[in-house]
Amino acid sequence: MNVDELAHAVRAGDRRALARAITLVESAREDDQYEAARLLELVLPSTGAAARVGISGPPGVGKSTLIEALGCLLVARGEQVAVLAIDPTSPTTGGSLLGDKTRMERLQASERAFIRPSPSTGMLGGTAPHSRDALLLCEAAGFSVVLVETVGVGQSEIAIADLVDTVVLLLPPGGGDELQGQKRGLLERTDVIAVNKADGARVADAERTRADYANAAHLFLKSVPGITVPVLVVSALEGQGVDRLWDGVRAHRQALIDAGLLEVRRAAQAERALWQALERALLALLQEHPAVRAALPGAIDDVRAGRISASAAARELVARLARGA
Ligand code: GDP
Repeated sequence: MNVDELAHAVRAGDRRALARAITLVESAREDDQYEAARLLELVLPSTGAAARVGISGPPGVGKSTLIEALGCLLVARGEQVAVLAIDPTSPTTGGSLLGDKTRMERLQASERAFIRPSPSTGMLGGTAPHSRDALLLCEAAGFSVVLVETVGVGQSEIAIADLVDTVVLLLPPGGGDELQGQKRGLLERTDVIAVNKADGARVADAERTRADYANAAHLFLKSVPGITVPVLVVSALEGQGVDRLWDGVRAHRQALIDAGLLEVRRAAQAERALWQALERALLALLQEHPAVRAALPGAIDDVRAGRISASAAARELVARLARGA
């Protein structure tokens, strides 16, 4: 199958073609780059229609359990659901959230669902450089909802906000640490907050946490002026509150559309993706350039030994690239 045929099969909704296409755009091999770019060019006109939703939160909070419950609910409503899972915690193995566990079994069994783990290759922020391309391919394949799962470590809510229309932050009962000091940044790009595990002995605890966050709603930077960030309790395990969570996501997305901000948000995301791609491409160019390569080990030694500052060394290396020698 050549790349034109692959694009055609993706647009026709062929799942195996979609899986192959994602593998192609994730490939680090130099000779795959041209085909990957051509593939994306071919499918780009067929993208844009899905609700792009990020699900973030600390490990163990119940993201996968929630995605299984939410995905099944959406599939039952006739949606086509793609799940991209991004794991920033195992860059060296290229492992993924789903690799070592059998999860989302019910959703996986559905013909209307597509689940794709995606190695993050260690990018700070917990989204892989090609997550955006994978998301676009899912859209081109006709998925009406794309759920992007990421582990909430440090800046990842902010990175995921660069990828999706709506960010859902899933929190455990108790805690509330995010309301303090530095961690507040995590909340600033969140559109819907859900306190999970509101079942059994933890209902009251979850309700208290919900109230704490609801009271602090003024801390959140709202992506739509005047909108209130909903703070809900859910039990992903029992499926309680998952429909209301989706109502919150839909309301946020509709508010974005009504305010004319969905296009603005997506245009800004596309521009940031361009700058990130430029950074990667320029770094590759630098590392491949003969004169830079020759000077690099010495520069690294000098910087490590404190003989020259990192910024001065960087300027000197870039100057070599610019001179072409
Ligand atoms: P993730 O790491 O955020 O994807 O979390 P998982 O979905 O793997 O869930 C971690 C653990 O929490 C598992 O043992 C789940 O069964 C459990 N869990 C997830 N959601 C709930 C819930 O709503 N209630 C309870 N009691 N346990 C849950």
